[in-house]
Amino acid sequence: MTSDIVSNLKIIENRINQACIQSNRNPDEVKLLLATKTVSAKKIQQAIAAGYLLIAENKVQELKNKYEKLKDTPHINHFIGHLQTNKVKEILKYDVTCVESLDRLKLAEKLQKRLEFEDKTIDVFIQVNTSGEKSKFGVYPDKAIEFTQQVAHLDRLKIKGLMTIGLFSAEAERVRKCFQLLKNIQTKIQSLSIPNVEMNELSMGMSNDLEIAIEEGATIVRVGTAIFGERKYPDSYYWNEG
Ligand SMILES: *Cc1c(COP(=O)(O)O)cnc(C)c1O
Repeated sequence: MTSDIVSNLKIIENRINQACIQSNRNPDEVKLLLATKTVSAKKIQQAIAAGYLLIAENKVQELKNKYEKLKDTPHINHFIGHLQTNKVKEILKYDVTCVESLDRLKLAEKLQKRLEFEDKTIDVFIQVNTSGEKSKFGVYPDKAIEFTQQVAHLDRLKIKGLMTIGLFSAEAERVRKCFQLLKNIQTKIQSLSIPNVEMNELSMGMSNDLEIAIEEGATIVRVGTAIFGERKYPDSYYWNEG
């Protein structure tokens, strides 16, 4: 198993490097995030030992289950799932440094309140629903700027960029449109120079579409299946409430 994960990581690294060459980008600009839903702490540790420290869960329950087993292994935790407001307090216990899936004001306000209480800050990405599919979370593209401006008033939340899940389609050009849309929104927000808003990060691209995402400006690609293998549950299970 060890060698599987490690060799898969090498394959992904090569794909990232190739995509960077293709689009004249420096590979140092693109980080690999390991999407670890359903993956055991043991396997995650193998990936961390291979030098990949940025990991992310979709559900607070899984984060909690693996926390004790991973806490002595230095790594960085992002959160990429739909976060319920009643889990805000809990998520902060497990050393999550960035919520990539900020998608509504109620959640932002809840985070702000709790962070004030704990005298902490957290990084956030605004999740944008670029595919327009009902099954996916995220603010709609035409609401993204207004939402960013609202969140910018919450001083405990440090906006670092945008996140999206592209359309699942074999048609590369339709997938590409999602990523181009996210890039366009980033450029627009950058041009507004909103106080308390940094817009350097674009988290987009997964196992099947990371090359397209990198060509369109991704700074973080989130990869699960291509490293750890197929999952038992459909992704919709992880992207939906409850
Ligand atoms: C599962 C997941 C990924 C990784 O998807 P793969 O297709 O397994 O690479 C990326 N982002 C989010 C939000 C996910 O839930």
